[in-house]
Amino acid sequence: MLPAIDLAACAETTWQATPDLPLRVLIAAGLVALAGWASAHRPFAGRGAFAAMSLVMAAWVTFSLTEHAAREPDCKATVALLSWPAIVLQPALHALFLFQYLNSDPRGPAWRVRLLLALPPLALAGLALSNGAHGLFYGPGTTLTPPVAGMPRLRFEYGPIFYAAVCVGYAWVALALGMVLRAWATARPAQRNQWAAFLVAMLVPLAANASYIVLGWRLFGADPTPTAFAATALVFGLLIGRNRLFTVVPLARRALFAELPDPVLVLDGERWVRDANDAALRMAPPAGGLDRPLAEWPRLGPALLRHLGTGDEYGVLELHGPSAWYEVQRRPLATRGASIGELVVLHDVSASHEAHNATLRTLAARQVELEKATALQALLREQAMHDALTGVLNRRALDERHAHERGGELPLALVLLDLDHFKRINDTHGHAIGDAVLRDFAAALRTGLRASDALFRIGGEEFALLMPGVVPEVAERRVETLRGIVAQWRLGGLADPVTFSAGVAASRPPHASLPGLLEEADAALYRAKRDGRNRTAIATGGGA
Ligand code: GH3
Ligand code: MG
Ligand code: MG
Repeated sequence: MLPAIDLAACAETTWQATPDLPLRVLIAAGLVALAGWASAHRPFAGRGAFAAMSLVMAAWVTFSLTEHAAREPDCKATVALLSWPAIVLQPALHALFLFQYLNSDPRGPAWRVRLLLALPPLALAGLALSNGAHGLFYGPGTTLTPPVAGMPRLRFEYGPIFYAAVCVGYAWVALALGMVLRAWATARPAQRNQWAAFLVAMLVPLAANASYIVLGWRLFGADPTPTAFAATALVFGLLIGRNRLFTVVPLARRALFAELPDPVLVLDGERWVRDANDAALRMAPPAGGLDRPLAEWPRLGPALLRHLGTGDEYGVLELHGPSAWYEVQRRPLATRGASIGELVVLHDVSASHEAHNATLRTLAARQVELEKATALQALLREQAMHDALTGVLNRRALDERHAHERGGELPLALVLLDLDHFKRINDTHGHAIGDAVLRDFAAALRTGLRASDALFRIGGEEFALLMPGVVPEVAERRVETLRGIVAQWRLGGLADPVTFSAGVAASRPPHASLPGLLEEADAALYRAKRDGRNRTAIATGGGA
């Protein structure tokens, strides 16, 4: 007989309860329940394909049990042909599900690709349904065999299209196996076992189908393939339900990438933007930034391209209008050693950059203040070392200068100068004139000093001269020179000349302390005063 679709035959046939009827009904119901469970499950990649695959399998199992339940050959042939759309769709859906699931791709291939992939199964299904017209699927040699265990069954004569359908089915299964094998090989050790379970679950229907076609092995007198596929689907369902990691980890990674607050760009070798997360897409051109040259991204594109041109793996990128700063991190992307692009992460550091600039401004302001304070301190120090009335150094400065010179190798002369009868000037002309005399006296002395000499006011009308490298005789000569200068001046505007007396003391290294030297000079000064004033006396121990 030539198997053909003949629905009327099924209306007239008688039915028999096959031994596997309860099992197959249970399997079909289980598959429908599995489809329902998947549809209600939290979304996972390939959920739709999985549910469709389960329903199609339920249909296959149902057709299969119907074929066996029918006693009449024309009805058997009709049901066998009717089951082919389900048979050819099932491995395709299986592969689609695995493709989406393994790639964590919730959307799956584009509709055009899907249609293209669905064409061979649809064509085969059409050829099966139209077998009555061509006999290329099941040939006219198909016969009813004597009943086995009281059950008549059809032995089909397989035509070329049947084998083509088997090949297409196996191609899908091989594709699916390849995908799972790859997942198994690239999985981390913790997930390997789960992929191994996937693999085993897939091999069961293959083994069942091969043993049916090649060895004629049957389960309760029927093709074991749908039952085995149903077992696979159940195992898949179990694995999906139990190992949420499969979907959670890749989905979490995808979500993390998408929602990362820092812009992330995936560039290919030509610097086209091939992927970008939401933060990066906010900088994209209005017409869309993906699959476009980076150069066409406004604001970011040209600046980032310049930055990438430097070849630095790390750096700070400055954007204008409005100003922003990004730390740029680059990660080359390569497969099998060949560079295919790079990952660019931009970390917005505008806030810290602003803070940094503010700190710099504050630091600059502090620096100015510090310089002012330093200048003020220097001024105060200067003032602390000088006499306010005459402007010459004071007694404290003499201590310091002497301490400094004392460490040197040179002889040192110290001269004390004291105005003669100064009290009288005060008494006669007043304190203000006295002050003016003091000022003029200091000014007159300064005009005659050498660079190495230092003049100090150490008392009311008492001054000191420190002369490094000068022996007493030279010091005396210089004092006499000063005396001549002072005599030229009209100190305090007074008509009468004002004179002074001087006492010279000297020391050689190692130098004695200042008080000792002052004492000697004072003794010499006292002698000068006693001997009539307006003269210079050298300390008796001078030069000691
Ligand atoms: P001698 O020749 O012995 O040194 O006599 P003298 O009058 O100069 O000495 P004396 O020590 O008796 O007097 C010093 C006077 O100098 C007393 C004091 O009033 C006056 N004097 C001290 N400091 C100042 C000052 O800053 N301004 C004025 N105008 N007078 C001062
Ligand atoms: Mg005096
Ligand atoms: Mg005096």
